[in-house]
Amino acid sequence: MCHSDLHVVDGDWERPANVVLGHEGAAIVEAVGPDVPRDSSREGDLVVLAWTAPCGNCAACRRIEPWLCTEPRGSGHRLRAGDVRLRRVDGTPIGAYSGIGTFGERQVVAHEAAIPIDPGTPPELAALIGCAVTTGFGAVVNTARVRAGESVVVIGAGGVGLSAVMAARFADAGVIAAIDRSELRPSEVDTIGDLTEDGADHVIEAIGLTETVEQAIELVRPGGTVTLVGMTPQGQRASFDVYRLVEDGKQIRGSNCGSATPEVDFRRIAALYAEGRLPLDLLITERIALDGVPMALDAMRAGDGARRVVVY
Ligand SMILES: [Zn+2]
Ligand SMILES: [Zn+2]
Repeated sequence: MCHSDLHVVDGDWERPANVVLGHEGAAIVEAVGPDVPRDSSREGDLVVLAWTAPCGNCAACRRIEPWLCTEPRGSGHRLRAGDVRLRRVDGTPIGAYSGIGTFGERQVVAHEAAIPIDPGTPPELAALIGCAVTTGFGAVVNTARVRAGESVVVIGAGGVGLSAVMAARFADAGVIAAIDRSELRPSEVDTIGDLTEDGADHVIEAIGLTETVEQAIELVRPGGTVTLVGMTPQGQRASFDVYRLVEDGKQIRGSNCGSATPEVDFRRIAALYAEGRLPLDLLITERIALDGVPMALDAMRAGDGARRVVVY
């Protein structure tokens, strides 16, 4: 379960009702449709489900920026435009969130959204690779491009933030600090300043609160890079001192889905886990059944724990 599901449940984002939520999941392929290319996943494969499976044709895809695809498979929460596979008993169509709707025991997804990975990967961890891990890892490795020895401050110690911490370790960063909103007080900000002399080379904002976005810009050193990966409710605006930002040559980058290419980054992350270089097991707070979803949403509202995984 991901915070983005909570944003939808709480009405922070404009999304249609009548969808099966859940967009961070993995599955075993039970059957493959007749027109699926031969090099796609096959029966029995462990697949990570991609909530943004690029179309391959739009301007962003042609620039090889698939994370910015404007027509990903599953957009409009349909398999394809008008293609509905789920219905209520009375026949009313139901969408599948981002085309994968993982809060269910079975789902029909586009073949582009089912990325086979190392079958030895524990399925619960494969699920996390579908969103939180790739988002946090990608923010550090793909978007911020952290290099060896650089200092990294991560704001937010949930699933995405902790994945960013692991990625910073993987990238051989120097000082790595994680702070959570409940602890972020002016004294802590000073402490971070002490750790990194004139501020951090990189600050990764992984909560999605305007106040921590503004603090991220304060915490980064002159010439450093702020990478925003946490999602706020729609329409929120943050402010910063324009003069200082320009004078200090700071950069602010947005990172959607960790600037990731699903078929590349999902497999890479699974391989790094297998090599013992990303301790993804530490992200799982609790394994729950499907009927535990409302409880898990409450826990997220309270900021309790990293990841709860529904095991079917
Ligand atoms: Zn997510
Ligand atoms: Zn596209």
